[in-house]
Amino acid sequence: MEHVQPKVVIITGASSGIGEATAKLLAQQGAKVVLAARREERLKTIVNEIKQDGGEAVCIQADVVSSEDMQKLAQFALDQYGRIDVLVNNAGVMPVSRLNELRVVEWTQMIDVNIKGVLHGIAAVLPTMREQQSGHIINVSSVAGHEVHPTSAVYSATKFAVRAISEGLRVEESPSSRIRSTIISPGITESELLQTIKSPEVQAMASHFTALSISPYRIAGAIAYAINEPEDTGINEIIIRPTLQP
Ligand code: NDP
Repeated sequence: MEHVQPKVVIITGASSGIGEATAKLLAQQGAKVVLAARREERLKTIVNEIKQDGGEAVCIQADVVSSEDMQKLAQFALDQYGRIDVLVNNAGVMPVSRLNELRVVEWTQMIDVNIKGVLHGIAAVLPTMREQQSGHIINVSSVAGHEVHPTSAVYSATKFAVRAISEGLRVEESPSSRIRSTIISPGITESELLQTIKSPEVQAMASHFTALSISPYRIAGAIAYAINEPEDTGINEIIIRPTLQP
C-alpha cells in the first residue's frame, strides 16, 4: 500500500545545491520538509520560497559535525510534525587535492562532515524510526564513492565509507524493522560544491567539471523516487551522472 499521509523529511545541507533542490521538489510533492544547514539566512529564504509555492517547510541551523546539533534537529522535527519518516543525509564538502599537498586540515574536515555527519544523522533519528517501526535514511555518496582519481583519495574514502555505513544499516535493520536505507551516488552536478576546493591546482580544473554538470533537480528526482516507492520496496542505490561523464 502507498503511504498516503504526507511524509516528514529532514534534509541536511539544504541551503544550496542538491539539498535545496530536494527540499523544493519533495515539498511540491506534498512532503513536510525540515531543512538544516549552517547558513540560517539561506534556509529561511528557501523556506519562504517553498511556502509561497504552497508547500510546508521549517528550518533550523545545524552543523552535522556536532552530534548535539543533530540531536536538536531531530527533536525539532518531532516537535514540529510529531514523527520522522525520512532523513536525507546530504551535507558534504569536497576540498579535494593531491595527497602530497598534505592538506591535513581539509582531510579532517571531509572526514568530519562527510562521515561523522552521516553517523550523527543516523544516531539522531534511528531510535525514533525504530519506535515508529518505519523510516527511511538516504545517504548521499558519489560516483567518487565507486572510483578513485588523482586528488580524490580522501573525498573518495569518505564516500566509500558512506556506502559502507548505508549498507551496514540496511543489513542490520532489514530483518526486523521497516527501516529502509538508500545510497544516492551522483556524478557532476550543478551546486556550490566546487567552492569548497582550496587547492589552486584543482581549482584551475574546476571549469572542466562545470561544463558537464547536470541540474540538482535530476538528483532530487532520484531521491524522490526512492522515497515514493511503496514501503515493501527498498531502493538500495542509485548512481546518476551526466551522460557525458566518463
Ligand atoms: P553544495 O556545496 O551546494 O551543498 C552542500 C551543502 O552542505 C550546503 O547546504 C552546506 O550548507 C552543507 N554543509 C556543508 N558543511 C556542513 C556542515 N558542517 N553542517 C551542515 N551542513 C553543511 O554541494 P552539493 O549540493 O553538490 O552537495 C550535496 C552532497 O552531494 C554532498 O554530500 C556532496 O558530496 C554530494 N555530491 C555532489 C556532487 C556534485 O557534483 N555536486 C557529486 C557527487 C556527490 P552550509 O554551508 O550552509 O552549512
